[in-house]
Amino acid sequence: MRILVTGGAGYIGSHFARMVSKSNDEVIVADNLSRGHQESIPDGVQFKNVDIRDAEKISEVIRKYSPEAVVHFAAFAYVEESVEHPELYYQNNVVGSYNLIRAASENKVKYFVFSSTCSVYGNPGKVPISEEAQTNPINPYANTKLIIEMMLKDFQSAYGMKYVSLRYFNAAGADDSGEIGESHNPEPHLIPIVLEAANGKREKVSVFGNDYNTPDGTCIRDYIHVNDLSNAHVKALEHLSSGNESTIINLGTGSGNSVMEIIKTAEKVTGKNILFGIAKRRKGDPAILVADNTKALKILNWKPKYTIDDIIRTAWRWHQNPKY
Ligand code: UDP
Repeated sequence: MRILVTGGAGYIGSHFARMVSKSNDEVIVADNLSRGHQESIPDGVQFKNVDIRDAEKISEVIRKYSPEAVVHFAAFAYVEESVEHPELYYQNNVVGSYNLIRAASENKVKYFVFSSTCSVYGNPGKVPISEEAQTNPINPYANTKLIIEMMLKDFQSAYGMKYVSLRYFNAAGADDSGEIGESHNPEPHLIPIVLEAANGKREKVSVFGNDYNTPDGTCIRDYIHVNDLSNAHVKALEHLSSGNESTIINLGTGSGNSVMEIIKTAEKVTGKNILFGIAKRRKGDPAILVADNTKALKILNWKPKYTIDDIIRTAWRWHQNPKY
């Protein structure tokens, strides 16, 4: 299959591009490199430096390559930044995705797989969270992702482009090769921050609140390895190309770890002492986010393989010797 991967130089997109580039698929990465890294694009993959906000250009790329499928990772994804600068998020995520979805649909792209997020659920009424749960996004980033999901549904109804929206829980870890990994600037995510404290790049970890209603008082998240996520995109494409219907699917392991458990696991895996201090709660953080992943297991015939130890071990390997 010929697949256009937007955001293929970003964290999750580059892991997906690497995975599919090893198969018979033909991969074209479209990325504006504003937050991605050209070094992360695998050899043998065609690269177009294009910005999805440029409607003409993105349409030209789709006409030129006529992909059968688009896998759409390109997005801004910092919650805090989205609160301070919603315009960036509505322009890049919503307008950019509109340009892409419209061009894909007009040019008869058959399948579209979209990177969505569990943050569309906001503060969930119950956990684990199934796809049936009410969506109630509580920040502009999550709003933009939900709008794109709706756009896909409406375009499919009118023009027939089939889609799968994948609602990720907490993406983490790195490819086993050590050649690609997570590199955000600034870095807001817990596991990289904990590993930076382990390798001396930062003094300590601030634990955002230890008075939540959880067994150790710290927040619980469902950490899912980036290659398990990537593999689910492969399965989503298979799902669509086998003639199945468009759908929305949660991607998580179905079990969670608290912030303190992550610090303790990282100490075990790295053999380092990790300093931490208790800080105030971070605004908007729900106590527990864990996926009900029954639908992914059943419909995609997918199963996460990496444990939390594997996630931290692969991330540690990367953080000791990051290539970008
Ligand atoms: N967290 C923390 N200290 C940090 C970064 C994150 O205690 O320096 C906590 C955060 O409050 C959340 C969890 O770690 O409960 C995961 O946060 P992250 O930003 O990695 O992902 P999110 O769940 O916000 O998407």
